[in-house]
Amino acid sequence: MISNKKCIICGSERQRFIFGKESGSGDVFNLVMCSGCGLMFLEEVPDEKEIEKYYTGIYFSKRTDRGYNNYFSGDVRDEIERVFKLNLEDLGFFDFEKSLNEKKRSLDIGCAAGYFVNYLKERGWESKGIDISRDCVQFAVDNRLNVEFGNYLEFNFSQKFDLITLWATIEHLHHPELVLEKAYADLKKGGMLYISTCRVGGINFMNLFGSSWRFFNFPEHIYFFSYRTLKTLLNKSGFTISGYKTYGSNVGVSGSFLRKFADYSAKKFYMGDMMIVAAEKI
Ligand SMILES: [Zn+2]
Repeated sequence: MISNKKCIICGSERQRFIFGKESGSGDVFNLVMCSGCGLMFLEEVPDEKEIEKYYTGIYFSKRTDRGYNNYFSGDVRDEIERVFKLNLEDLGFFDFEKSLNEKKRSLDIGCAAGYFVNYLKERGWESKGIDISRDCVQFAVDNRLNVEFGNYLEFNFSQKFDLITLWATIEHLHHPELVLEKAYADLKKGGMLYISTCRVGGINFMNLFGSSWRFFNFPEHIYFFSYRTLKTLLNKSGFTISGYKTYGSNVGVSGSFLRKFADYSAKKFYMGDMMIVAAEKI
């Protein structure tokens, strides 16, 4: 176990206990909030090696449910691309892409089976991915994608990137502050960082759910950002925010009028429990 004694944003060691909650395997993890800046995180987490056991079950069952072989074909792929496209439109990606010259280079950190790596590759990008799941990396490599196994913090890249993405990844990281610093160094000037993550704080549909909120999965999710705390951390790493949207409510039953209305409000009024942020290296 590792104790998160010191806040990664403000350095304060004072924390307020929010609640404790069981993981899938029965261990209890405590959620705390930094008294200095309001950042929320788990007080103690399994280290990078130990945490693997919490992942194996979940990701294996997901994988077998869907059937790995169908990942890059048919309905699954259409749905994944639809969601990417929505996020990318919101972040102004398509104009950004047009502004780049022919050799466009991207890196997707926590790329899983490589959907986004594949998506950009098909758009003519020199598209790369990295992940800590051996199964996922093997699958991506079998599909002729440029994906590497390992911890991003331990990699040295010979060339800089136009775009680095962290899709639903930053909340899983043991050291988000170090990853953002390195991403800043690994980007070209004018390069963009896109982050999607679950969102706490503000007027937010998550408040309806308390500790049973869909993203309070301990200990897989370690850090819980509000827009304010994420912005502060990005600024600290050198980035300038250039886009911000929220989406998602999880209110009511999928497909119902209530869900549709709540999802519409989430987007329109910045009430969503997910957020996407575009940050630029100026
Ligand atoms: Zn703090």
